[in-house]
Amino acid sequence: MSSRSKSKQFKACRNCKALVDREVEVCPVCNGREFVEEWSGVVIVVDPENSEIAKTLKVNQRGRFVVKLE
Ligand SMILES: [Zn+2]
Repeated sequence: MSSRSKSKQFKACRNCKALVDREVEVCPVCNGREFVEEWSGVVIVVDPENSEIAKTLKVNQRGRFVVKLE
């Protein structure tokens, strides 16, 4: 059995890496329309001004972001 269809429920914005539902057509963060369905790692940013990971990812607002686009 090689059914490795681990289809993810979310996709990531190519521009800002925001994690959104698959049905979303326009990124709520940057209004981008390009999404990547293969990504890894999720970061939840609650306090972007004091979050090291947010700085690393160049995120300046709250939300869910992916660490890496595939
Ligand atoms: Zn975006």
